[in-house]
Amino acid sequence: MNIIWHDEQMPKMKVNEKNGVTYLTYPQLEAIPGVVHGFSTRLGGVSEGIYSSMNLSFTRGDDESAVRENYRLLGAAVGFAPEDIVTSDQTHTTNVRLITAEDRGNGITKPRPYTDVDGMVTNVPGLVLATFYADCVPLYFVDPVRRAVGLSHSGWRGTAGKIGAVTVEKMKAEFGSSPADIYAAIGPSICQDCYEVSGDVIKQFQSVFARKYWEWLYYAKDNGHFQLNLWEANRIILMEAGIPENHISLPNLCTCCNPEFLFSHRASKGRRGNLGAFLGLTD
Ligand SMILES: [Zn+2]
Repeated sequence: MNIIWHDEQMPKMKVNEKNGVTYLTYPQLEAIPGVVHGFSTRLGGVSEGIYSSMNLSFTRGDDESAVRENYRLLGAAVGFAPEDIVTSDQTHTTNVRLITAEDRGNGITKPRPYTDVDGMVTNVPGLVLATFYADCVPLYFVDPVRRAVGLSHSGWRGTAGKIGAVTVEKMKAEFGSSPADIYAAIGPSICQDCYEVSGDVIKQFQSVFARKYWEWLYYAKDNGHFQLNLWEANRIILMEAGIPENHISLPNLCTCCNPEFLFSHRASKGRRGNLGAFLGLTD
């Protein structure tokens, strides 16, 4: 598979292959002991057609037994058990939930007892947080000092609502995390050149980001629309929340530029499966 990196000069995510399953990791998070993490690709699963092949969504029309097999294959490659997963219920909110031992298996082995959860934090070893994507922005958080993790889904609405900052606040409140200790990673998602938005979206970004940032966040086009940079917006949010710049990993990898390698909502016009982000503390 020929991967198109956004910028050949920038650091790249690590591409791992195990038993035919290809998944991505961040060197900076891999260097932290006692943490398991990964981001899935389309490669190595058993789903067919528009879900080919590593679809992780039970709700987009794919065969349930194929999705369950995909979780088993991916977990075996990355290093976690599917029954330890806790899934989000993503509805583009900025709700971040504290995940405890009772949540183990939510959305996999049993129904979720909650709705409208776009971010999760936990300090329980052995749980694996999971959120889902096809262009929106995954945000990973690891506090190696207080031993806690967070994982949040940040589409344009979540980014305008600064769910990255909400997640940091939740880690401060629940675990006493200091932002200066936190390592964060922005996951594979749609790049600025692929992400055209309307003026209404830009107005919302102007209302929540200081003017000095606007030139980094978007540019106007002749057709009256704009190209929005969700990677830079989230990087600014994480830095304003107090995370050191050199603790933040960028994806350098666009879902829409790589529609055979990653699921992209825009590239597929909505006919697609889901990618998954996974993060947990090991026992
Ligand atoms: Zn792109």
